[in-house]
Amino acid sequence: MCLFCKIVNKEIPSNLVLEDEDFIAFHDINPIAPVHVLAIPKAHIGSFNDIQADTMAKITIFIQNIAKKLNISKSGYRIITNIGNEGGQEVKHIHFHILGGAQLHWPKLT
Ligand code: 5GP
Ligand code: ZN
Repeated sequence: MCLFCKIVNKEIPSNLVLEDEDFIAFHDINPIAPVHVLAIPKAHIGSFNDIQADTMAKITIFIQNIAKKLNISKSGYRIITNIGNEGGQEVKHIHFHILGGAQLHWPKLT
C-alpha cells in the first residue's frame, strides 16, 4: 500500500484539514509556504495521467472548500500537481499541492 493510501487509512497520522466521502486534505509534512496542504482522492490513482474527468470535477469543489476554510480564497493561492519523473512527482498517488498564505513567486523551474 502506498504512503498516501496509508494516510487515507489512518495507518500513518496526518494533520487533517478536510475530509469527505471521496477525498482528504492534510498539511504537508515539509511545507514550502505558510499554507501547504495536500488534497488527494481516497482511491489510489497514480497521477494526473490516470484521473477521470468526473473525479477532477469533484476535487475542484473540494479544493475550493479547502481554500475557503483556510482563508486563502480571496488572498490567492496556487494549485500544483506534479506528474511523473520530470514533473518531480515523488509520491505516486495523485495529490494537489495547495500553496498560499504569502505572496508566491514564479521561479525559474529548470
Ligand atoms: P510530490 O513531490 O510527490 O509532488 O510531493 C509529495 C509531498 O508529500 C511533498 O511535499 C512531501 O513533503 C509530502 N510528504 C511526504 N511524505 C509525507 C508524509 O508522511 N506526511 C505528509 N503530511 N506529507 C508528506
Ligand atoms: Zn495510494
